[in-house]
Amino acid sequence: MIATDEPRLGGPLVAGVDVGGTKTSIVVIDDRDRVLYEHVTPTDRSALVGQIVGLVDDARRRLGQDVAAVGVAIPGHVDPEDGSVSLAVNLGVTRLRLGPMLETELGVPIFVEHDARAAALWLSEQAAHGAAQASASVAFLAIGTGISAGVVLDGALLRGDNGLAGEVGHVVADPDGMICACGLRGCLETIAAGPAIGRQADEMMTAGRSSVLAPHSSAADVFRASSAGDEVAIEITDRVAVHLARAIRSLALTLGVRRVVIGGGVAAAGAALLEPIQSSIARERAASPLAEAALGDATVELLSPTEAPGARGAAAIARHRIGLPEREGVGER
Ligand SMILES: [Zn+2]
Repeated sequence: MIATDEPRLGGPLVAGVDVGGTKTSIVVIDDRDRVLYEHVTPTDRSALVGQIVGLVDDARRRLGQDVAAVGVAIPGHVDPEDGSVSLAVNLGVTRLRLGPMLETELGVPIFVEHDARAAALWLSEQAAHGAAQASASVAFLAIGTGISAGVVLDGALLRGDNGLAGEVGHVVADPDGMICACGLRGCLETIAAGPAIGRQADEMMTAGRSSVLAPHSSAADVFRASSAGDEVAIEITDRVAVHLARAIRSLALTLGVRRVVIGGGVAAAGAALLEPIQSSIARERAASPLAEAALGDATVELLSPTEAPGARGAAAIARHRIGLPEREGVGER
């Protein structure tokens, strides 16, 4: 937990909370986008609302100042208009009226957004503040307990008429694969999400393969073992990379994006994740002029594990929404 700068100099504060399958982050920013407070804690799936209320109240107490609004980033089918979230399969949420419940508890305006979309929005804004020729489109590929993409296309957040644009974690990767938490078979998540990576190591060792890995290893353990030359781990990480490279190709081909940023807990593996993905993309480019056209000048980068893009994006959305006379603009399609 840190508190930096001078909290009272920055005008009205807003908080951003990112509820992940494994951990929940909060940031508080001032009107100059400076982070005054941040904290990360394991997600309490049995008490999501209570946990968010507690995190915001702790931040208020620590800063000695109220927040004017709270943005909440969460996976699943999110309706930003009524603040509801449903089908968050990795959180066990069937349907939750999250925004109204938090508004009652916290007494400030609450803005709920899909986690990867909030992150993509933040990345897009950061790019716009940086280079003069920043790309107007970006896909943020979140790989953690689940997998999904948030997409900003030509400067606008892509939601889709069905509200599910970017849910690449549930496109089919192996038609004969495992049943996914969503009920479908062989989704990308059953191969390349964090829990699936550990599960594959267990399966291979149960089948008699020898490995330095202990039972119930995490994705991070598997990537470390892969870097150290463990054959089982290398087989898994290569398979994961091939499937993620295909997902990136799909994003490039269906949406036309040239910038893909990978984040989420699995991205903490760093080069052990990125290098095999880039090798796989290079093989696709060499094999196909079409893949070369789609991916030749694309950048695929990893977000630093210290960044909290979902929470920053949620805070940015809250700031924009209370700052605008009408509920339009950033955060809207
Ligand atoms: Zn699925």
